[in-house]
Amino acid sequence: MTFSLHGIGVSGGIAIGRAHLVTSVALDVSHYLVEPAQVADEVARFEAAVAAVQGELKSLHSNLAHSSPGELGAFLDLHSMILADPMISREPVHIIEERRCNAEWALVQQMDALVAQFNAIEDDYLRERKQDVMQVVERVLKAMLGGGSGVHAVLSRSQRLKALHAQEGEMVVVAHDLSPADMLIFKEHQFAGFVTDVGGVTSHTAIMARSLSLPAIVALHHARELVTEDDWIILDGTEGVLIVAPDAAVLEEYKLKRRALQLERRKLRRLVSAPTATLDGVAVELHANIELPDDVKSANEAGATGVGLFRTEFLFMNRKQVPGEEEQFEAYRKVVRAMGGQPVTIRTLDIGADKQLDAESAQDAVALNPALGLRAIRYCLAEPQMFRTQLRAILRASHYGPVKILLPMIAHAHEVDQALAHIAEARAQLDAAAIPYAPDVQVGGMIEIPAAALSVGLFVKRLDYLSIGTNDLIQYTLAIDRADDQVASLYDPLHPAVLFLVANTIRAASKAGIPVAVCGEMAGEVAMTRLLLGMGLKQFSMHPAQLLAVKQRVLGSSLADTEAQVRRMLRTEDPERLREQLALLNA
Ligand code: PEP
Ligand code: MG
Repeated sequence: MTFSLHGIGVSGGIAIGRAHLVTSVALDVSHYLVEPAQVADEVARFEAAVAAVQGELKSLHSNLAHSSPGELGAFLDLHSMILADPMISREPVHIIEERRCNAEWALVQQMDALVAQFNAIEDDYLRERKQDVMQVVERVLKAMLGGGSGVHAVLSRSQRLKALHAQEGEMVVVAHDLSPADMLIFKEHQFAGFVTDVGGVTSHTAIMARSLSLPAIVALHHARELVTEDDWIILDGTEGVLIVAPDAAVLEEYKLKRRALQLERRKLRRLVSAPTATLDGVAVELHANIELPDDVKSANEAGATGVGLFRTEFLFMNRKQVPGEEEQFEAYRKVVRAMGGQPVTIRTLDIGADKQLDAESAQDAVALNPALGLRAIRYCLAEPQMFRTQLRAILRASHYGPVKILLPMIAHAHEVDQALAHIAEARAQLDAAAIPYAPDVQVGGMIEIPAAALSVGLFVKRLDYLSIGTNDLIQYTLAIDRADDQVASLYDPLHPAVLFLVANTIRAASKAGIPVAVCGEMAGEVAMTRLLLGMGLKQFSMHPAQLLAVKQRVLGSSLADTEAQVRRMLRTEDPERLREQLALLNA
């Protein structure tokens, strides 16, 4: 039966394909081989976990209060029966023995096979019993993992997603949640799109989806429960609509829509080599945001005139050990060379909040307010070895083309002073080792904390340029978590406070005579292009997929006209009025 779900479209376009459900329990399991001599131990570990869960279910049953509803007892009985079934309690043992794999992986393989069988059952009630199987499996997994370490969880999520490789293509991933680290795996594959139950518009997961031009919807709330494995689905990432089991007419309509979108994108390609300037001849720089060195390919294809933001933290994810100086140097040099003389802005590690290092996941998971915690520059200054290693690698890459260093999340003058001292020290270390680097590497800072935007004078004095991170600036100004769908409706780039902070930063930098860019998602939104131009912005950095659409808007804008309209907008507080003015500006 056809039905539709509505969420937040975070990456436009239409995907049509079969649903692949990604369950959290399965994602949290790693896969490794065990030595032949250890197979018996692995089997024993599995059997001990099964026995422990049997005991746990029995004791829960016998401790049920007299007043508890009868269903609770029946439910525990059902779970005991499922666990006792050889399909759960014996079959994984054969998988361990045959494939010499770890017990957790064997159990999840068996669960996947059972869930696929359940999905094929016509009877709704019986089909839903797969949830009970999954819950029982989860209990056994927990018994084996002892709660599970963060390191395992992150590594195994990627391995698990990699295992989907064989089935990708026209496959739409349906998950409760996906992390930015999971999205790195998507880069290696060809999924048609993804939907999640939770998430916000400027979460790093959503940003990655846009940079991959992968249609995506977040905040669908119950998609993973309502969609069945292998269902045909239409994902309209522009409208935020998911249509499940569409009939032939609807399918045809969306195929036509998808074709029209593809044609539109192809038409934009004509603008690739055109210089970017407004109708009244003001030149504008359109740079690319990248996450991994290979992304420079799409930056070049879109005609970016530089990399305005290299989110280097993605080099550090999904691995046990952080990359050393040589590996980082190679990665940065690769980007610098591929950009052929165009500037490359390399941001120092912005780890924390929704972007976790594997080794850090376990402890950060318990941080009360990770977005307010040891993130970005705070983290770098607390880990001076790691910071200096990165700085040396960046400086070394500057020998091969223009490089700029960008410091994330600055709020205090002393953070900048300390970072500059580390940069001086990194230079001295390279000098001592006679390793070449460019003498004129500029150092800039990201303005993404309201305190920095309000005291921007402190920073224009110390730095060579600024870059405004609107994603975090909006998050911190409005006190809403950018990755939390429950407050996503409050995420408002047009809030007068946000407009004031962005305009204030651009004004202060221009007055001080230093360049200023916007590298948050606002820079890639066509609806915001004229607003930012009117505030005096001349440098935009965005994911390459958006670049040509923004270029088209710049080419069709007159700076003189927009400036006057934007001045009026900056004096307006009423939200309705602001939206009307923006519509006029974009007319
Ligand atoms: C921002 O906050 O706007 C930004 C560009 O940085 P990130 O999205 O990586 O936090
Ligand atoms: Mg940021």
